[in-house]
Amino acid sequence: MTDKRALIIGGGIGGLTAAVALRQRGVPVLVIERDPQWSVEGVGITQQSNVVRAVAELGIVADYVDAGFGYAAVEAYAPDGALVARVPSPQLAPPWPPNIGIARPALNRVLGEAARSRGAEVRLGVTAERIADEGDQVRVRFSDGAEECFAFVVGADGLGSQVRRQFFLEAPPPRYAGQVVWRYNLPRPADMDCLRTYNGPTGVGLAPMNEQTMYMFLVTVEPEGKVAQEGLAAAMRSRLANCAPAIRALGDQITDDAGVVYRPLHTVLVEGTWHRGRVVLLGDAAHATTPHLGQGAGMAIEDSLVLAEEVARHADPRDAFAAYHARRAPRCGYIVENSLAICRGQQGLGEPVDMGRAAAEMFQVVAQPL
Ligand SMILES: Cc1cc2nc3c(=O)[nH]c(=O)nc-3n(C[C@H](O)[C@H](O)[C@H](O)COP(=O)(O)OP(=O)(O)OC[C@H]3O[C@@H](n4cnc5c(N)ncnc54)[C@H](O)[C@@H]3O)c2cc1C
Repeated sequence: MTDKRALIIGGGIGGLTAAVALRQRGVPVLVIERDPQWSVEGVGITQQSNVVRAVAELGIVADYVDAGFGYAAVEAYAPDGALVARVPSPQLAPPWPPNIGIARPALNRVLGEAARSRGAEVRLGVTAERIADEGDQVRVRFSDGAEECFAFVVGADGLGSQVRRQFFLEAPPPRYAGQVVWRYNLPRPADMDCLRTYNGPTGVGLAPMNEQTMYMFLVTVEPEGKVAQEGLAAAMRSRLANCAPAIRALGDQITDDAGVVYRPLHTVLVEGTWHRGRVVLLGDAAHATTPHLGQGAGMAIEDSLVLAEEVARHADPRDAFAAYHARRAPRCGYIVENSLAICRGQQGLGEPVDMGRAAAEMFQVVAQPL
């Protein structure tokens, strides 16, 4: 499987890491991304040691660590702001730090540059208008009028995946989990050297993403639906009323409506295999999770490595996809279901989950080899 092109639909974290991993194995790759500006949310993301290990396997860990902020512990604070515990994080890929906080635009730049410099073609502002699996190849008509054939197609087009909607008719649509996350960038205090989580009626966290900047994330229960950007800063500040004094004080800096990223949480978990013929799903398209265990993008990155390994191992991509699913479904299912259990517990819709225990158990799972 080294002489035919793969089409990756979606130039997000999963699509770009899949491009890098497939190029590592000599597979020609075209990535199409519907957003002509290739824009991503301006806030950050946190990634744990299994993800740092996966990025090291992709051969791009030095650029990744340079672009972000490495840290080695997680601090838990009580609702009154007292430090309860500082838990050191296990390190799976020494000498690289156990955890990375990174701005999403910086991550996108590192991954995009890596994909292109390794020979992947990236076309922006393009979608697939027609995808036809002809048995021995997949014929795709693009929105720019071009028509091309591929050995296989990877749907890495996220939560609302067009590929999933076309090929997995039985898959249920994304389900609203009842909570939203509010995020906002703030200056990083010099003494802030790790992820800080604040427990209480409103879950809050502060995550470093580079030397200068951290982001605040806040999880609240809200009705489903879109909200206007205007007024979001005041609305986010109002949600901090019950939080620790240090958090309320930071809230005074939340003044720019345009800087607030408000994201309702949805889940998707495709049952059964993740391919139909020569078309396969990866990342959020197959298994979108709420972020309570901080592993959504990590699962997409790990998917990419496993998919590329199996593609290199099998002559027929359909065999590769079956093997990929067998290796990935248990771990991704675990993350989706256990993240949702925390989310439901926080809303009184299920048993409350002890976060420390859940995080430790989760780490046992993701620390296993891929
Ligand atoms: C509030 C929140 C906080 C989170 N925090 C974390 C965290 O701290 N750590 C973590 O690991 N994960 C986190 N996640 C999860 C993480 O963001 C996702 O799991 C990750 O972005 C999935 O990557 P993906 O490439 O599968 O999908 P996406 O990132 O959604 O990328 C899909 C790409 O496909 C493009 N696209 C869509 N449709 C088409 C189409 N038809 N044609 C062409 N292109 C298309 C999109 O423009 C996009 O670029 C968080 C999620 C949320 C909602």
